[in-house]
Amino acid sequence: MKAKITEKNTRACPVCRKPVVPDTPEAPFCSKRCRQIDLGRWASGDYQIEGESAMPWELERGED
Ligand SMILES: [Zn+2]
Repeated sequence: MKAKITEKNTRACPVCRKPVVPDTPEAPFCSKRCRQIDLGRWASGDYQIEGESAMPWELERGED
Protein backbone atom coordinates (compact mmCIF):
# COMPACT_ATOMS: atom_id res chain seq x y z
CA MET A 1 0.00 0.00 0.00
CA LYS A 2 1.37 3.33 -1.04
CA ALA A 3 1.60 6.08 1.51
CA LYS A 4 -0.67 8.88 0.56
CA ILE A 5 0.50 12.43 0.94
CA THR A 6 -2.29 14.40 2.49
CA GLU A 7 -2.54 17.99 3.52
CA LYS A 8 -1.94 16.92 7.07
CA ASN A 9 1.60 15.70 6.53
CA THR A 10 2.66 18.17 3.89
CA ARG A 11 3.54 21.81 4.22
CA ALA A 12 3.33 24.48 1.61
CA CYS A 13 6.62 25.89 0.43
CA PRO A 14 6.86 29.44 1.77
CA VAL A 15 8.22 30.59 -1.57
CA CYS A 16 6.10 28.94 -4.24
CA ARG A 17 3.31 27.43 -2.12
CA LYS A 18 3.81 24.00 -3.60
CA PRO A 19 3.46 21.05 -1.22
CA VAL A 20 6.77 20.16 0.38
CA VAL A 21 7.75 16.51 0.63
CA PRO A 22 7.94 15.85 4.39
CA ASP A 23 11.41 14.31 4.36
CA THR A 24 13.08 16.65 1.94
CA PRO A 25 16.48 17.94 3.03
CA GLU A 26 15.38 21.32 1.75
CA ALA A 27 12.47 21.58 4.19
CA PRO A 28 10.64 23.82 4.81
CA PHE A 29 11.24 24.62 1.15
CA CYS A 30 10.29 22.36 -1.75
CA SER A 31 13.67 22.70 -3.42
CA LYS A 32 17.11 24.19 -3.21
CA ARG A 33 15.98 26.83 -5.64
CA CYS A 34 13.22 28.04 -3.36
CA ARG A 35 15.64 28.06 -0.43
CA GLN A 36 17.91 30.35 -2.40
CA ILE A 37 15.01 32.59 -3.37
CA ASP A 38 14.01 32.90 0.27
CA LEU A 39 17.54 33.72 1.35
CA GLY A 40 17.68 36.34 -1.36
CA ARG A 41 14.52 37.94 -0.05
CA TRP A 42 15.94 38.26 3.42
CA ALA A 43 19.15 39.69 2.05
CA SER A 44 17.35 42.30 -0.02
CA GLY A 45 15.10 43.32 2.85
CA ASP A 46 11.80 42.23 1.35
CA TYR A 47 10.80 40.87 4.71
CA GLN A 48 10.13 43.37 7.43
CA ILE A 49 10.40 42.46 11.05
CA GLU A 50 7.19 43.27 12.84
CA GLY A 51 7.65 45.85 15.55
CA GLU A 52 10.54 47.53 13.79
CA SER A 53 8.38 50.23 12.27
CA ALA A 54 7.50 53.42 14.08
CA MET A 55 5.02 53.06 16.91
CA PRO A 56 1.76 55.05 16.76
CA TRP A 57 2.79 57.23 19.66
CA GLU A 58 6.00 58.04 17.87
CA LEU A 59 4.07 59.13 14.81
CA GLU A 60 2.05 61.55 16.94
CA ARG A 61 5.14 63.47 17.89
CA GLY A 62 5.31 66.98 16.55
CA GLU A 63 1.66 67.72 17.08
CA ASP A 64 2.49 70.40 19.59
ZN1 LIG B 1 9.04 26.06 -3.55
